[in-house]
Amino acid sequence: MQFANVIGQEAIKNYLLKNAQHGHISHAQLFLGAEGSGNLALALAYAQYLNCTNKQPADSCGHCNSCQMSVKLAHPDIHFSYPTVTTGNKGKKSTDYIAEWRQAVLQNPYMNVFDWLQFIKAENKQGNITAEECDEIVRKLNLTSFQGAYKILIIWMPEYLGKEGNKLLKVIEEPPAGTLFLLVAENADAVLSTIISRTQLLRIPPLNPPDIEKNLLNRFQLSHQTARQIAALCNGNYNAALRLMNNTNVNNRQMLTGWLNACLQNNVPQFALFTEEIAETGREIQKNFIGYCLHFFTECLRLSMLPNYVPLLEKDEIQTANRLLQSLNFNSLEELVQAFEKADEHITRNANSRIVFFNLSVRLSAIGQGKISYT
Ligand SMILES: [Zn+2]
Repeated sequence: MQFANVIGQEAIKNYLLKNAQHGHISHAQLFLGAEGSGNLALALAYAQYLNCTNKQPADSCGHCNSCQMSVKLAHPDIHFSYPTVTTGNKGKKSTDYIAEWRQAVLQNPYMNVFDWLQFIKAENKQGNITAEECDEIVRKLNLTSFQGAYKILIIWMPEYLGKEGNKLLKVIEEPPAGTLFLLVAENADAVLSTIISRTQLLRIPPLNPPDIEKNLLNRFQLSHQTARQIAALCNGNYNAALRLMNNTNVNNRQMLTGWLNACLQNNVPQFALFTEEIAETGREIQKNFIGYCLHFFTECLRLSMLPNYVPLLEKDEIQTANRLLQSLNFNSLEELVQAFEKADEHITRNANSRIVFFNLSVRLSAIGQGKISYT
């Protein structure tokens, strides 16, 4: 990936370019930035730049042998470690999933760890970077570099390194010559402090809304207004912007309408059935659905406050929203948003989804019981 393909973040790009050009290259750097900030994209562009054999002032050349391999995430001296799930013998090492990794990152270098785990069909399994992977890292880094270039290890989401990560301390502290560690993390508190203390911290801010807006307009068929709204709503998180784009997802819409209908009519058997059905799906589908509900209710909230607001909703959603607003006031909507935020947190922490969705159903039912119908 070239710097030119990384959204925004000009100050960080300049900083990395300047350091590379002046030879101030830290052997262990932590790219710390929230989801969707582009921390992985920046690390990829930086690794490609460092190994490019025809460096330009503002970017890698994009054409040399090294660039051609880097761009496909197939450079023999650029290694990757990331969370995996273990099934039988598969998944103890990151390379077991290298084909999927390349596909997922090339598709969306702004993905979060849940997107990734869903991509490898982890369902409810927890991802982690295993002890075997740590041994593999040490082994790989002791090999000589293939191209005589930097040997770079990108560890994505070191939050998923348990105490076995301590196996890496020595090699991070005293790496073989020409070896660089680029750690790409979202939450410093969740990374082993022994590792953090051995890295140089590079804080990556959330993206600026105008950068996101520009990218969305270039990439998708969108009106200026929609692009601006998504950019304003996604908190500088490009992955969230992509999710908002997907929130026009018909499945989620139908699911929410059916569920709302059952809850608001206090149709217990029907919402219990919904609870069973959604509990049978994976955590990612549940999170995606909750994300959609949050988006929908937040838009309802805005609509209730701002009479001239043009919501980021499709026509049929606006109808549903208007009907909902006839019965629910600002406070009950706000309460709903909070309930869904909490549910999102619980699902992320692997709580029992049956209980989470049943509680939400009861809550929805209590708030709007029997007042309106969605048919
Ligand atoms: Zn090049």
